[in-house]
Amino acid sequence: MARKIGSRYTAHRILGRGSAGTVWLGDGPEGPVAIKLLREDLASDQDLVERFVQERSALLCLDHPRVVGVRDLVVDGNELALVMDLVRGTDLRTRLERDRRLAPAAAVAIAADVADALAAAHAAGLVHRDVKPENVLLDALAMEGPGGAPPALLTDFGVAKLIDSPSRTRATSIIGTPDYLAPEIVEGLPPRAAVDIYALATVVYELLAGFTPFGGGHPGAVLRRHVTEAVAPLPGIPDELWQLIHQCLAKAPASRLRAAELAARLRELLPALEGLPPLDIDEQGEEGYADYEDPARDGAGPGSAEGAAHEHSHPGTGAVPGPGGGAVPLVHSRVGPDANRDTHTSMRVPGEDELAGGAHGTARAPRAVGEARAGSARHRIAVRRRRLKIGVAAALVAAALAVGGWLATSEEDTGSLPAPASGYSVD
Ligand code: ADP
Repeated sequence: MARKIGSRYTAHRILGRGSAGTVWLGDGPEGPVAIKLLREDLASDQDLVERFVQERSALLCLDHPRVVGVRDLVVDGNELALVMDLVRGTDLRTRLERDRRLAPAAAVAIAADVADALAAAHAAGLVHRDVKPENVLLDALAMEGPGGAPPALLTDFGVAKLIDSPSRTRATSIIGTPDYLAPEIVEGLPPRAAVDIYALATVVYELLAGFTPFGGGHPGAVLRRHVTEAVAPLPGIPDELWQLIHQCLAKAPASRLRAAELAARLRELLPALEGLPPLDIDEQGEEGYADYEDPARDGAGPGSAEGAAHEHSHPGTGAVPGPGGGAVPLVHSRVGPDANRDTHTSMRVPGEDELAGGAHGTARAPRAVGEARAGSARHRIAVRRRRLKIGVAAALVAAALAVGGWLATSEEDTGSLPAPASGYSVD
């Protein structure tokens, strides 16, 4: 059903739902547009509305082919809407869920587009603060580029900043999406341009690997890893590409490249990457996904469309990098919403002791090659398997004792049967 947005726009149908609101296909005086209607609780926040209006000129000024342009900001009664360029296509998350991993040339071409968008924004004094696959739109109507990747556009500029108003968040809270948060944000420093570079490097890693370098488990654990853990190279990744990712994932913001330089360096790599297949990464070693109960599937629910999609698209061939084991598979990403990827998660800034892993400093304890990270999905699965083995062993011992006992007693009383073994546990 069509609805009027201000005096100039009409929203026709929903294109997608995001964490900050609902995006509609609409039209206005200059033709088709996308209209993001902000969530009611955001739209009714007076402080936010004021900031929204203050930001108007900065957002409207950002005019770049790789940025989804904001054409208008509408405050109409209780409604708050961003009118944007319409992009016909999907977001990068959808593409990643479909393909699982992208060929290096496609991943790098998309990242170079996003880096171009960031260079323009940073030059205009804007920090995005929420770079992630959900905020990268792929233009399906344009010609495909290297690796078959459609041109990419960065969207949602200014939204993280709008939501991060003092009335909505306490001074010690963190706004952002845990998997992509730069360590300096976790440590409570103000977000500068380098946070976008860190997030983009995380996205490139994810496009190549199928999971983020520090994701998995409780959001607090994810934040801590950003600060304390080093990232290990992905097996088979071309060295120059790895050097770029590694530099942009540096803990020190000053060590990361600037957006314009990153875009140029990524493009320089493209000819050498053309034709390379997606990385062959063995997430589960020899064991595969098929034989265990994925904890993330609880969220999808038995028989749900998401659960079914998981079974069809992920037959258990995926990957955890070997040496160093610096990554945890983002199991949730395969089955639906992952709390760690919710936009604008608001968390307390961890204290120094917590960042160091508590009094015992567990965060820095090195793990053996291939060993799962505590708290990760793979770790929980390993624990479950160990319990299963112990349970089966206990059952066998109980059965042997029962049979032994039965043989002993049957010599005296041939009418009695052994008690059933009860030590079997799969939990
Ligand atoms: P989030 O807040 O989670 O980043 P968005 O609200 O920006 O997500 O977008 C939700 C969905 O709406 C996107 O996944 C995309 O499919 C669609 N969408 C967003 N912006 C546009 C646009 N400018 N043109 C076309 N579709 C869009």
